[in-house]
Amino acid sequence: MTSVSEQANDILIVIDVLDRIETIGGSWQEAAAAGGAETALRPDSLIGQPLTRFISGDATRMYHEALLKLCRLTDTPLQRDYRCDTPECERHMRMWLRRLDRRRVEMRHRLLELRPLPHPLRLQTTAAAATAKPFVRCSVCNRLRPPGSNQWLEPADVVPPAAAPLQVIHSVCPDCRQRDWCGGRLRQR
Ligand SMILES: [Zn+2]
Repeated sequence: MTSVSEQANDILIVIDVLDRIETIGGSWQEAAAAGGAETALRPDSLIGQPLTRFISGDATRMYHEALLKLCRLTDTPLQRDYRCDTPECERHMRMWLRRLDRRRVEMRHRLLELRPLPHPLRLQTTAAAATAKPFVRCSVCNRLRPPGSNQWLEPADVVPPAAAPLQVIHSVCPDCRQRDWCGGRLRQR
């Protein structure tokens, strides 16, 4: 287990009042390079783009939009833990949202912990209609629901397919939804 909880490694993104990316800083470029997307995710190509363009799945987009709205309307700093695994590692992340002037929001992302997975698990995002039976991945806790099942499994407990990556669509699982939402409104926790 590696602890890399250092503020120096934070990724900082400022979102404008229309949910567009205004600035990206901190260790963004190192993170993009580590994910093999140094060129595709260059900061200058992201500035001005809607944040939701980079979020897969309607439920996940709504989740982020609701978080931003709550932060803006209540001027309450929010903190959420989430997972952003690579094929080899569990990546335990924490995100803070805080309102700046003119209803801009600063998102700070920090890697809290890296834990190697027992076996590599490669995921590939697919359109729901393109694959008959995709897995559903929770964008918050990174658990996976196999097709036709009600059970959400830790990535470590999913047996990876031999050759091809696992086809997934992205959503938010009932546990994460229930923890964060109450009577249709986002909880302040
Ligand atoms: Zn979840």
